[in-house]
Amino acid sequence: MTTTDVLNPATGQVVATVPSSSTDETDAAIERSRGAFDSWRQVSPGDRARLLRRFAAVVDAHLAELADLEVRNCGHTIGNARWEAGNVRDVLDYYAGAPERLTGRQIPVPGGLDVTFHEPLGVVGVIVPWNFPMPIAGWGFAPALAAGNTVVLKPAELTPLTALRLGELALAAGLPEGVLTVVPGKGSVVGERLVSHPAVRKLCFTGSTAVGKRIMAGCAERVKRVTLELGGKSANLVFADADLAAAAAAAPAAVFDNAGQDCCARSRILVQRSVYDEFLALLEPAVRAFRVEDPALPTAQMGPLISAGQRATVSSYVEGAEVAFTGSVPAGAGFWYPPTVLLAGSPAERHWREEIFGPVVSVLPFDGETDAIRLANDTEYGLSGSIWTRDVGRAIRVARGVESGNLSVNSNSSVRYWTPFGGMKQSGLGRELGPDALHAFTDVKNVFIAS
Ligand code: NAD
Repeated sequence: MTTTDVLNPATGQVVATVPSSSTDETDAAIERSRGAFDSWRQVSPGDRARLLRRFAAVVDAHLAELADLEVRNCGHTIGNARWEAGNVRDVLDYYAGAPERLTGRQIPVPGGLDVTFHEPLGVVGVIVPWNFPMPIAGWGFAPALAAGNTVVLKPAELTPLTALRLGELALAAGLPEGVLTVVPGKGSVVGERLVSHPAVRKLCFTGSTAVGKRIMAGCAERVKRVTLELGGKSANLVFADADLAAAAAAAPAAVFDNAGQDCCARSRILVQRSVYDEFLALLEPAVRAFRVEDPALPTAQMGPLISAGQRATVSSYVEGAEVAFTGSVPAGAGFWYPPTVLLAGSPAERHWREEIFGPVVSVLPFDGETDAIRLANDTEYGLSGSIWTRDVGRAIRVARGVESGNLSVNSNSSVRYWTPFGGMKQSGLGRELGPDALHAFTDVKNVFIAS
């Protein structure tokens, strides 16, 4: 059997060795999932809801264990990892309310009765990246299972540990064998097979835009349903009338959280020119005070990057750029990188245009509302963003003008499990979370019964 060593990014040490599944093993998992679908779809809505609630309760009973595992496997701060494990529980609880409410319609027609059903699709492949392994897995499998599908979950090569544990917890909660199957392995093997296997009816992919395009092309071959949650280069727009102290105090966490390995990172700060210097003066102490340390410490605000390779990629964006100021990192092994603020001389600079996926933020001045919207939209991405202003009319105009799936005003939050989440433009296709996600895991069937 082929295996992969999983490292602790804070120490560089091996924490576990996991199987790297072959194409044949992936086929076997898909076949088991296909077999389980025949009975899972017949489970009554009430029983399906009860099983999902029990799964949520089992996750709740293992929050500390899951969080600890994620700290060691991903270098996430313990505070974040607890939130992430709690998010899986909450998402399961939320979608456990769905099976009994997944109702169709009765449509008036002459000569009979016309009704619609929301039918499950079959086997759903959920492919997850390494940056938020737990929540992103839950956003895929919870609504898919609630709607009556079975799921084959493929975690990222670097971070499979919590996904494997969630698979065990699903069985412990009483979900039948094959309803949620976790298959660790390479994207080029397990991921590609999920895309090409005819029994997999939908792909729910979160990851890079480049791989997302490839998956979409593969799904087109068999007209598979596909949801894509891809990259981002989100704008944090700070207007002169904003509470500048609040905007500056919140800006570091909006991009350095999870060491910047966050698709929603507000990695471009746009500041109205009249307050540009004042904002930078407020931002500097907040960045320098951002605590980068052993992620297991309760005081940690940021841990290491996921890998040496990711650190090299991040460094390549900073080399040759104008650094305004940086935070600091602990000494020793581990894939550390300091919080870094870059000044963008123009919107053509590479660090301003590309997703860095590290603790690096670029700052650029703008000259008014129209200019702010133009610069915010000057990207192929459109995932999230923030608008800081005290003018309600401006907040509405700018929120309507910025091409992003998730915006917040006087806040940097992006995710609530009961509201829709997803990207515009090349940041994705479809929406996760909230009530909308459920229907993305069903097909509508229309039945006419002659009277
Ligand atoms: P990635 O695209 O390299 O990999 C994501 C997953 O796809 C992994 O499980 C990988 O094994 C698998 N994969 C790779 N090649 C594949 C192939 N040919 N066929 C099928 N599966 C394949 O992304 P990553 O480096 O793990 O994650 C970082 C990226 O994810 C960033 O671009 C980030 O913005 C994005 N992301 C987006 C969201 C969102 O919700 N929009 C959330 C988190 C991360």
